Amino acid sequence: MPTTCCCMDAETDRSGMVPELFGTNVFNDATMRERLPKNIYKSLKRCIEEGRELEPALADVVANAMKDWAIEKGATHFCHWFQPMTGITAEKHDSFISPTPDGRIIMEFSGKELSQGEPDASSFPSGGLRATFEARGYTAWDCTSPVFIKSDGTNIALFIPSFFCSYHGQALDKKTPLLRSMEALNRQSMRVLRALGNATSKRVIATLGGEQEYFLIDTKFLDGRMDLLLSGRSLFGAPPPKGQEMEDHYFGSLHERVASFMNDLNNQLWKLGVLAKTQHNEVAPAQYEIAPVFATVNVAVDHNQLTMETLQKVARQHGFACLLHEKPFAGVNGSGKHNNWSLVTDDGQNLLNPGETPHANMQFLVFLFAVIRAVDQYAALLRASEATPGPDQRLGANEAPPAIVSIFLGEQLTDIYEQIEKGGAKTSKQGGRLALGVCTLPPLPKDCTDRNRTSPFAFTGNKFEFRMPGSSQSLGGVNFVLNTIVAETLSEIATELEGGKSGIAINVRVQELLQKYAKLHKRVIFNGDGYTEEWQKEAARRGLPNLKNMVDAVAAITDKENIAAITKHAVLTDEELSARQEILFENYIKTINIEAQCMLQMARRLFLPAALKQTTLAASAANSASYAKVKASTAVKMLKEVCGMTDALSAGADALEKAVAKANTAHHGLVRAKAYRDAVVPAMAALRQTVDSLEKVTDAAIWPVPTYAQMLFQR
Ligand code: ADP
Ligand code: MG
Repeated sequence: MPTTCCCMDAETDRSGMVPELFGTNVFNDATMRERLPKNIYKSLKRCIEEGRELEPALADVVANAMKDWAIEKGATHFCHWFQPMTGITAEKHDSFISPTPDGRIIMEFSGKELSQGEPDASSFPSGGLRATFEARGYTAWDCTSPVFIKSDGTNIALFIPSFFCSYHGQALDKKTPLLRSMEALNRQSMRVLRALGNATSKRVIATLGGEQEYFLIDTKFLDGRMDLLLSGRSLFGAPPPKGQEMEDHYFGSLHERVASFMNDLNNQLWKLGVLAKTQHNEVAPAQYEIAPVFATVNVAVDHNQLTMETLQKVARQHGFACLLHEKPFAGVNGSGKHNNWSLVTDDGQNLLNPGETPHANMQFLVFLFAVIRAVDQYAALLRASEATPGPDQRLGANEAPPAIVSIFLGEQLTDIYEQIEKGGAKTSKQGGRLALGVCTLPPLPKDCTDRNRTSPFAFTGNKFEFRMPGSSQSLGGVNFVLNTIVAETLSEIATELEGGKSGIAINVRVQELLQKYAKLHKRVIFNGDGYTEEWQKEAARRGLPNLKNMVDAVAAITDKENIAAITKHAVLTDEELSARQEILFENYIKTINIEAQCMLQMARRLFLPAALKQTTLAASAANSASYAKVKASTAVKMLKEVCGMTDALSAGADALEKAVAKANTAHHGLVRAKAYRDAVVPAMAALRQTVDSLEKVTDAAIWPVPTYAQMLFQR
């Protein structure tokens, strides 16, 4: 039975106290206002809002207030919390202690320590941007993301969300390009808004709500499952008699043990200021989802990192292992992370809100077409932005959108799109009402647009939902790309609208431009079923890229037009972009290599011995029968079958080992990644098939690892 959590604190049963609990561990606006002198608070606020640097004198006062607050909450340390290219977060703690001449200590924290850190960063992925001897790296506070307190076990520390760059100032993390892209998006959006006659908004911000899927299994199943422990997914396992076909898990009532886990998870997240909102059972057995209320994109990315970390931490406290891998179990759905993205102005307008009559909403249509054009022109880059090895196991496998990037607009907007293409939109289809046929139920207002779950990039009411990202990855990469490509198309639009042509009304010029775009980008609009074979063919006919695996996707990152867009808006330099590509190839190679090594060890040290035991069992039954002069056709048949599989298993392991050795002779980067994809991955699949067949005929008592049925259904 589960270990009940010993770390649950007193807040466990505190419904009604959520408002008091929320953000208690965050140095948020309210705390700043309360703790800082008025003039300092105002100056800091201005720095945050205008993205300006904190002056040293100001930083000292802020740091001191933070330290007092943190110490009251039990903190002894502070750390710059950053997001290197590993995709997870990094932290190095320093205590507040400072020695005094009389042999004692005082607790100190300076503005310099708050603003800047200097971790030895030579062991983080840099893609060749730094030599190992250039060990120095810098971290700097991103003051737009609030500092917070986090306790891990009994250690309590002040966390400072930070950038991370090399000694020469090159970005080595996920945050720097994201913030640069937010600036670019703001600049270009404002140009467009001004050209359209908006004189009041001062800033445009991208918003993000990241839905996070995950699996929970009992920790005891990690015993012997080196694959789950080290690679995060099961590399072996015969299909269980029951999977997800009964469709009984999705939105099902929460299992008590899971519900308690969720309760603690929410408490922890709320304390950290994460707007945890929705929770439910997902499609696959043992699969769940958590979604937050959306926030400014960089804060939402930080919060998603905290969510992933907290999921795993709280799971351990409840005797669960939380699997964030995109495909932990073959044969049932894997996990994604839906990236809900929109644009809002500082005065509260959602630029992707169509309103009641979208055909007449010029501002909405311009921003809508900017996104459509960006997604069509930079489809490959967008696909690459979510490229990690995990999603290769699920994209296009009837559970996640295909690797082809297309846009779902829905009935109403598609109708308007077609009207614009023909020369001007005059009407908007309205939703109407749904009659439910039961007199006690009121008719429901019907949305004018349905949902489409098979589209990778779907318009969903007042935002776009990008559904390709994997459950384990940082959303930083996806959103810096999305922000940048939309900034680029907005800059083209702004240039068109700002330039000359006096005498022609703005709406006429907008109409001309949108008509041109409608014709050009029609190919990317697809409202049908993205999971079908026909769509693959149709997409090929339309000339849409279909980058089916991570290696092909990553190779596209440095295509000419992608480099041009990203460098033009100063989001990354040419060099920084190439380094990222290199890191992604390395990540692919290392990930597959770890999986292959796990498979080899498990095949030789667990499954081969089990096969030999099963052989002995069958041989001994056949021998005994023969000795007693009794016919033993089943034992003989089993003996032959198991001997055949044992040989195949041994040969399969040898073949995999050879494939890895050969792939490792290839040069780094693209060539080696391709060798892994084309030789190692198929050898892994072949070995798995043999072991899974063996599992089906081996004595359950000697099978050395937990089965799929146990892991997926036993809580
Ligand atoms: P579904 O499961 O139908 O895709 P959910 O309601 O679970 O939808 O999640 C929708 C997500 O979209 C939530 O995280 C929500 O906060 C987010 N969202 C809503 N409005 C916006 C917006 N304007 N910008 C960004 N994200 C948004
Ligand atoms: Mg969704």
